[in-house]
Amino acid sequence: MYQTYLIDIDNTILDFDAAEERSFQNVIESYSLPFERIMLEEYQKINKNLWDLLEQEKIGREEVFHTRFSLYFQTLKREVDGIEAESRYRSFLGNSPELIPDAKETLIQLKSMGKKLYTASNGVYSTQITRLNQAGIYDLFDGMFISEKVGSEKPSLNFFKHCFDHIPDFRQEETIMVGDSLSSDIKGAVNAGIDSCLFIRTESPAKSAATYTINNLSKLLSL
Ligand SMILES: [Mg+2]
Repeated sequence: MYQTYLIDIDNTILDFDAAEERSFQNVIESYSLPFERIMLEEYQKINKNLWDLLEQEKIGREEVFHTRFSLYFQTLKREVDGIEAESRYRSFLGNSPELIPDAKETLIQLKSMGKKLYTASNGVYSTQITRLNQAGIYDLFDGMFISEKVGSEKPSLNFFKHCFDHIPDFRQEETIMVGDSLSSDIKGAVNAGIDSCLFIRTESPAKSAATYTINNLSKLLSL
């Protein structure tokens, strides 16, 4: 039985896809441009490419956050200050605390079973804390591991070592990583030698390195 849960935030307990779409649209409109869905898709390609490079430790976080909007706006032949656009985006994102179905109920149940819950997120500390608070789930966690504060990103071993070093009475065999990303959550857990649970909202992937795969968070209660 697992006693300690390392839980990813975006698209695992908070609906990042919904938050991203609305926040991105607000950024576009704040520059007096009409929003179209294709714009979001273009931005997501640029953003994903930068995040892939970050997970591979080829670039730093600053480069992701300071350039993703200036690179995107270049495709519209429009020059904007990337840092300013990022700041607008974060303030919209901070007000987007939509929960994934069953997330809150599952966390409450796990807590009542005496489990220790920690966030394990590649994200911006203040944005994530604000969203968890607004979603009413901040107090359910025993601690927060968020890459900006930790100083390294999932899937690096340093991220997980930091978590292990800061969890009281840590036991590797009683710890599980729960998340929606094969490249950061599951790969990181495998590298760090802990079990993992892949959460996907749609159909199951054919095969993955995850110990378990679930499509509803309430299934965590019976692992
Ligand atoms: Mg995620």
